[in-house]
Amino acid sequence: MTHQSARHRPTLERWLTGKRVEGLPAPLSHPEPPLLSFEFFPPKTEALETQLWVCIRRLEPLQPRFVSVTYGAGGSTRARTHATVARIVQETALIPAAHLTCVGASRAEVDEVARQYWQAGIRHIVALRGDPPADSGVYEPHPDGYHYAEDLVAGLRRVAEFEISVAAYPETHPQALSPDADLDNLKRKLDAGATRAITNFFFNTSVFLRFLDRCLAAGISAPIVPGIMPVTNPAGLRRMAAMSGIDVPDWLGRMFEGTDQDLEIRRMVAAIVTAEQVRLLQANGVDEFHFYTLNRPELTYAIAHILGVRPVRSSPT
Ligand code: FAD
Repeated sequence: MTHQSARHRPTLERWLTGKRVEGLPAPLSHPEPPLLSFEFFPPKTEALETQLWVCIRRLEPLQPRFVSVTYGAGGSTRARTHATVARIVQETALIPAAHLTCVGASRAEVDEVARQYWQAGIRHIVALRGDPPADSGVYEPHPDGYHYAEDLVAGLRRVAEFEISVAAYPETHPQALSPDADLDNLKRKLDAGATRAITNFFFNTSVFLRFLDRCLAAGISAPIVPGIMPVTNPAGLRRMAAMSGIDVPDWLGRMFEGTDQDLEIRRMVAAIVTAEQVRLLQANGVDEFHFYTLNRPELTYAIAHILGVRPVRSSPT
């Protein structure tokens, strides 16, 4: 029977013969709210700096266990990343994690950046290989540099007692030799001294859950924290996802069909899609989430709220 003819059956008959779907557990039925972390990017202009700080102040009462600040391709945001994490240390109660990459710098230079982070009070680094700047194509390690994130993790261990997070790819990193080789790489990064992996964003929740199974089978016991991207711009997302080998399911595109000119509707759709995703993960026992905030607080705040996280206001002195 085609979709069209099903629509022409009487309403009650359709409903009574339709597939029965078990509901997700009631929201907030989980004993503990999840642990959250939020990712920001360092601002390029004064206006973006203001936007970032509005975002930070809005999300701060949710008491994430850390907030991370990205490092631009090829180290292009080195000074801005440093300034942002240093200001977070000085002016907030948040714990910042600074991203650091291997691209375009010698080991001595990367070690020096890490030392400066340590001196500024930063104790957590997200250690990455990084990508070359968009116009320069294939990744070439610096001749005197760390080649892969695994080498950077080992190098950071020699610099100071940092807490270290690394990246993971439920749909396999696009340059990996194979899914198994990519998983071996993740294990090596953790064995070298990282304590958690944060995943690239994904939309097929079952792919993430299967990835957890594969990690466990490979002997990985560190947390694999899902990276959650509340999407409001599916066109931009498709470009980004294509570069990163992430599947954007047809249903997601259809959710946003015809909403190009209507940001409000896209935000509502994004909230619903993301809420379903995190609730499904939570129902599967996942209790740690990393949000790609894109320096905008509303969607992240709303999804955190749905997950059971409530603001904690500091008591007046
Ligand atoms: P690696 O773990 O080093 O792996 C890179 C590739 O090399 C993989 O395909 C791996 O399988 C392969 N590989 C590893 N070792 C070997 C080997 N010995 N021989 C052959 N192949 C090998 N980018 C930025 O520029 N700045 C950021 O701030 C940033 N933040 C990110 C945060 C998160 C949570 C994630 C998921 C990604 C982030 N990225 C960032 C993107 C990241 O830099 C790219 O995805 C990059 O291409 C890979 O980095 P990695 O640390 O995963 O690399």
